[in-house]
Amino acid sequence: MLEETLVLFKNIRNPKYDKSLAGYKKTGGFKSLKKVFGMKPEEVVQEVKESGVRGRGGAGFPTGLKWSFMAKGTGKPSYLVANADESEPGTCKDRELMLKDPHLFLEGLMIGSYAVGCHHAYVYVRGEFFPAIKTLNAAVDELYADGLLGHDPLGSGFNLDITIHTGAGAYICGEETALLDSLEGKRGQPRVKPPFPAVSGFNGCPTSVNNVETLACLPFIFSDGGVESFKSFGPQNNSGTHLVSLSGHVNSPGVYELRMDVSMKDIIYEIGGGIRNGKKLKGVIPGGSSSPVMKADEIDVLYNFDDLAKIGTMMGSAAMMVFDEDTDVVKLLHRITRFYAHESCGQCTPCREGTHWSRQIVRDFLNGNGSEEKLKRLDRVGGNMLGTTLCALGDAAALPIQSIVNKFPEEFRNYYATT
Ligand code: SF4
Repeated sequence: MLEETLVLFKNIRNPKYDKSLAGYKKTGGFKSLKKVFGMKPEEVVQEVKESGVRGRGGAGFPTGLKWSFMAKGTGKPSYLVANADESEPGTCKDRELMLKDPHLFLEGLMIGSYAVGCHHAYVYVRGEFFPAIKTLNAAVDELYADGLLGHDPLGSGFNLDITIHTGAGAYICGEETALLDSLEGKRGQPRVKPPFPAVSGFNGCPTSVNNVETLACLPFIFSDGGVESFKSFGPQNNSGTHLVSLSGHVNSPGVYELRMDVSMKDIIYEIGGGIRNGKKLKGVIPGGSSSPVMKADEIDVLYNFDDLAKIGTMMGSAAMMVFDEDTDVVKLLHRITRFYAHESCGQCTPCREGTHWSRQIVRDFLNGNGSEEKLKRLDRVGGNMLGTTLCALGDAAALPIQSIVNKFPEEFRNYYATT
């Protein structure tokens, strides 16, 4: 029977775990930070590269490599910003870490800050997520009271402050440059790149933006034998465990910590307990709403970055949404298109217009006004957004449209054939 591999959820799965600073220290908390303070920052970056950890926010970019791009010798401060604006539909894993083991994440943030030479780190947390904001602020207060933040923690000679900053609840602020604009007090809108944040980020200074789960991996990576263990949890270039948000029509939805060499089929049928009410599987949205949808006969594949990319989809934020044979995919797509039309920031024409028109066309089908020509037009609208926009939201809106239209065309035809 497939089981979780506990690294990030080691404490969370312990019913007796006390998430206070004292409780975290009892589990060996902050030993990794102490070890890191005995290393040079460039050695820390190298070790993170060696571990192979890739960003868990959706893009899967290698974290150590990202840090190595940070501009040096600029005379400006460097910043590390934790992206805690978790808002990809279906994704609910960072909030588990922030709520239930905040010091694990904060230790990771401190390790990352030391690596990139940051003396003031920010946590940009989703504004509606009041419990996490409260928990994180309380945890940061504990760290200051204990001397682990501020001047010279653990006698390291390093100074670090952490500020918890709340957003106002916009999906686009999960995009790193929109997040930085919002952090600077502006309307959150993606920037033209280059320059990338590693050169000109927060207030024009070198900045790295990293996801909460990514940072939470660092204490384990810097534990004894951590790098080798981390690498052993998945195929090459897909190392470590990751948190999978499993939702939809499964018997046991939830957030599970799994190795990256586990198949989607096993996740759905063993971890998730199969499809509820004995129904058949129709399909899966594998990595948050922006990932191309998969049909039931495609799920015999390892659930990691590269194996999913090979079959034309993506793992994204590891939010797997399962839908059964009774699901109306036209209504499903309508829900997705409404979301992106609402969340588009409107800066670029293909995204602003494309998200609006795709929502309108899908609505036409639902209202009995669909046609073969409109089905083709829907596919074309998606195609015109792909690769033509300033940020990834355009692609995120287009990929589910094209994949649903191309994999389930009969469902759209049923609407106009029967009305
Ligand atoms: Fe804004 Fe969409 Fe353009 Fe991104 S792709 S910058 S969300 S209009």
